Parts: sequence; structure tokens; C-alpha cells
Amino acid sequence: MDIFDKHAHLAARHDKLVNLGADPFAVLVEVLNSPTEARVNGRKAILAGTNNYLGLTFDSACVAAAEAALRSHGTGTTGSRIANGTYEIHHALEQDLARFLRKRSCIVFTTGYQANLAMISGLVGPQDTIFIDSDCHASIYDGCRLACATLIRFRHNDPEDLDRRLARRSDTGGCKLVIVEGLYSMRGDVAPLRDFVEVKVRHRAWLLADEAHSLGVFGRHGRGLAEEQGVETEVDFVVGTFSKSLGAVGGFGASDHPKFDLLRYCARPYMFTASSSPANIASVRAALYRIESDPTLRKRLWTNAERLHAGLRALGFDPCASPGPIIALPLRSEASAARAWDLLRAVGIYVNLGLPPATPDGLCLLRCSVSAAHSTEQVDEICRGFRAVASLLEATPQIGPDKIA
Ligand code: PMP
Repeated sequence: MDIFDKHAHLAARHDKLVNLGADPFAVLVEVLNSPTEARVNGRKAILAGTNNYLGLTFDSACVAAAEAALRSHGTGTTGSRIANGTYEIHHALEQDLARFLRKRSCIVFTTGYQANLAMISGLVGPQDTIFIDSDCHASIYDGCRLACATLIRFRHNDPEDLDRRLARRSDTGGCKLVIVEGLYSMRGDVAPLRDFVEVKVRHRAWLLADEAHSLGVFGRHGRGLAEEQGVETEVDFVVGTFSKSLGAVGGFGASDHPKFDLLRYCARPYMFTASSSPANIASVRAALYRIESDPTLRKRLWTNAERLHAGLRALGFDPCASPGPIIALPLRSEASAARAWDLLRAVGIYVNLGLPPATPDGLCLLRCSVSAAHSTEQVDEICRGFRAVASLLEATPQIGPDKIA
């Protein structure tokens, strides 16, 4: 028996994607000119699928900080903090983040994915129950598996459904941890955090909010959706990543809980992996400073988001959510989404193609992420690309139109 036989269904799925021209691993970004322009598979493209919300990947202060750290600290830490010790720069970033978020403590993890694994598996165990929004990211699901706790999913963005499910399990022992995200990565909609807080307080549960996509983007100071909705102190645990508005790689968890740092001694995805490279950490510190000191970044992002959203609606598209950094357009089928995605690439626009099982409710999505670094001309160029898509869908009844007027 071949060891890969168990993946027969996967191989069939892969063949189908290749036939549709939608193999995600065939996308080769050959040259990066800026946060918003690259050469992709031999073609110049405007990047509109990067999560680079504030466009900081080429920010001169961030690049300079990374270069300096590379020279002063070397290329890597070559081990975990529990074994090799903590570089002062990692400690400094934890302090910066705690101060920025107004939390007592912060722990930095090597990736955002690991942040969720570490936080969830460190906070709950087999005797506890986790309640997660059904749209939560794969890293949250995987963290729940690692925790071996009872897992209950509630309907996406539905505090009443959560309320009912918590009530049904009111007499089980152990702790109850509710997990939601701020801005959801696929549909681009936001959580009603205020309502979730009310429910979790009523049931004496704990609340963890993954602000991966909302940090730096929401709130007057960019602290995220909890700041925007005025519930920062009621969110018990915040998770975030460095791979979106902060323009690097890594993640963090933050909390006011006085025992929070115990996670360093029990969260295996923290203890048994090398800490992040110093250059990466230095760039995140610089990016955080940019977020704190330059609110025009956020303003530009929102201006671009409004413009793109309005432009796409004017073309007849029906985005999943109101204007925001993620604008997702549902199409009728995998075939129509893949054809549209291909056409966009041909006209020099790169967006994300979101297909099941990576999407909720079997949605087939063209997912745009907006950046503060997009110029108005680039936003208009993206709209022009989508005009070609609209024409294709209109002209090809077998693949469109459905959501498009
Ligand atoms: N949480 C959410 C909500 C995410 O969308 C992602 C990745 N897109 C992660 C965590 C993992 O973050 P990273 O890619 O930085 O590891």
C-alpha cells in the first residue's frame, strides 16, 4: 500500500484545481517592487490580496530597524527561549505590545498560527469546554485539538446561539472559554464583540478575541476591534499576528490576568520552537511605533477600502460585508471564481481566490485586501480589472451571473 493512498481525495481535488487554473502553489511572486506591486508569473501585478493593510513591509523605518538588528544580533536565535534564553529585543517587543494594548502582560510567539495553538492549549485542558465561532481560523481549530477540551461551535457572529449553547452546559465542571475573531478573514465582516462580552459575563465564561486582521486597523489608536467597540477590559485574552498590519511574521497573546506568564511554562508551541529572528522582531517594533505615531496610515486604508467597495458595488458585485480592509465577493461556483481570478491575473490584478474548504459555508470568493499603500490610481485600476470580470460573467451565463446584478 502506498503511504499517500489516504490522500486520494486530495489528489483528485488538486487535479480539479489545476484544470481550473487555480493551483495556489503555482502562483510565483518573482519580484516585489513595493507593498502593492510585483511581478507574478511573468506579469506585472497590482497586489490586492496581501493582508498588508498598512503597507509597512517596505517602510523605511521598519527596513532600517531590521537591517540594524541583522547586523547586531545575527540571522537567527537558533533555539527556543526556554533553552537558549531571551534576547533583550524580544523582551522589549513584549513590553511595547503590552503598553500599546494596555495589558498587563504580553507573550510573543514565532507565528500567529502558533500564538493560537499556544494560547488555547495553554489556557484550557480536557476538563474545560471551548465555544468557538464556526468561522474561526484553522489555527483556532487546531489549538482546540491540541487542548483536548470539549469543543462546541456556535453560529457565526450569533451571540444568542452562543448564549443557548452556554446555558445547555451550565452544570458541566471546568472552565468555559469563548473564542471569536475581530475581523473575519474570509467574509471581511466583524464580530459583535460587545454582545459577546455580555453573554460571556452572564455565563462566567472567559473570552479570547483573535484580532489578527483587526489590529492596527480598527480603533482610534489602532488597538483593534475591542478598542473600536469599547470592550478592551472585558476581553480576557487577545491574540494577534505580526503578519498583517505589522508587515512581518509572528504573533502574540496579551492579557491582564496576573498569572498569564505561566503560559510560558506550559504552552508547548511556545516552549519547543525557536524564537523569531531578531531582524523580524526589530521590524515589528518599528511597525508598532509607526502605527502609534501615524494615524494617517489607518485613514488612508479606510479611504481606499471605501473607494474599492463602492467601485465594486457600482459594477454590480455584492460584497459579503460593509466596507473594510477585506472585501470578499461571492461568485456562483468554483469555475466562475477560478475563471474570474485568472482573468484578473491576466489584466495585472492579484487577489485571493477563496474556495472550500478554506471558506465558510462553501463560499467561492474573490477576496481583496486593501492597503494604505494603494494609490487612488491603483484602487481604480483594481476596479477596472473587476469591470472585465463583470463583463466575462455577464457574457458567460453558464458561470455567471448570480450575485452580480
Ligand atoms: N488568526 C487568524 C484569524 C488568521 O487569519 C491567521 C492567518 N491568516 C492566523 C491567526 C495565523 O497567523 P499567521 O499567518 O501570522 O501565522
